Amino acid sequence: MKVKHMLRYILTLISLSILIACDSGAQQENPATDNIDTAKQYRWKMVTTWPPGFPVLQEGAERFADNIKAMSNGRLDIKVYAGGELIPPLQTFDAVSQGTVEMGHGSAYYWAGKVPEAQFFSTVPFGMTARGMNAWLYDGGGLDLWRDVYKPFHVTPFPLGNTGVQMGGWFNKEINSLDDIKGLKMRIPGIGGKVFAKAGGNPVLLAGSEVYTALERNTIDATEWIGPYHDQRLGLYRAANHYYYPGWHEPGTVLELTVNQRAWDSLPADLQAIVANAAQAENLRMLSEMEQKNLSALAELQQREGIQILPFPKEVLAKLKTLTDETLQEEADKNPKFKAIYEAYQAFRVQNEAWSDISENAYLAID
Ligand code: CA
Repeated sequence: MKVKHMLRYILTLISLSILIACDSGAQQENPATDNIDTAKQYRWKMVTTWPPGFPVLQEGAERFADNIKAMSNGRLDIKVYAGGELIPPLQTFDAVSQGTVEMGHGSAYYWAGKVPEAQFFSTVPFGMTARGMNAWLYDGGGLDLWRDVYKPFHVTPFPLGNTGVQMGGWFNKEINSLDDIKGLKMRIPGIGGKVFAKAGGNPVLLAGSEVYTALERNTIDATEWIGPYHDQRLGLYRAANHYYYPGWHEPGTVLELTVNQRAWDSLPADLQAIVANAAQAENLRMLSEMEQKNLSALAELQQREGIQILPFPKEVLAKLKTLTDETLQEEADKNPKFKAIYEAYQAFRVQNEAWSDISENAYLAID
């Protein structure tokens, strides 16, 4: 036993002295970082689709830039501009694509007119929630497909935030059946709006800044916005008093970082790693912040007099779901690129639902 102990002691001493020798000797070789000019500074611009100071979303984009600056010791310095400060909000994608700016923050469904299939990387009605979207994008092949879709535009995408499940919206009357949707004027954009029209509703396009006044003056009968936190800040509870859930049309809207391809390629490997990992960190952080702020705002809304927080009737949701499948299929039938992404999305969604049904959903269903 004693000899064994002694041997182990000697071996430890030897390996320690080797470690010390290495440390004090020549610099370790690292082929990935050998050619990096650590003095070179990159000054980039990032434009977003959000109003200046917009809580969580614009704030998150700015925090992301701050974190990159800190982690890179100032080598990558990104100045963030809110929508309209440098580029109109809905021209963000083009500005990144053309290299006018290096980065953008928004959501893929804003570019539906240019890239219809991009909507699957944002959200679609009755689609996946944040958990499913992250699983698909990071580990289920979704992000690779997304990169392929943006490649012709010289743009590289990263998930950068998620709103979580949104609310169904504010209505000036009760929705008890499909008949109550007929002729209803509602601000509801995107595929959700198309589905709403098929159900007999009258979708209206309105910028965020016009939503409150339109509802308050009865120019519209209903509006969706985001969730309890942002909805309360906009004061929507003062303009209508029926608050419906869930947000069937936006079950987990992914926010995106877009990077100009040439700018991305110009970054050394260590800065690329910092950006990629800062994006993952901020993706989680924004979702977490949304969840916390929404649960807190919900509690406040529940205390307000006259506000009714109501579920959509099952019959209404079932019909909207059928109409969503029809709408997506119609789009797929006329657009092969849309069809390819739709099929990949659906394949993952079906498996994700089967697993969620016996994990998170089953657990949450316990009273
Ligand atoms: Ca919304």
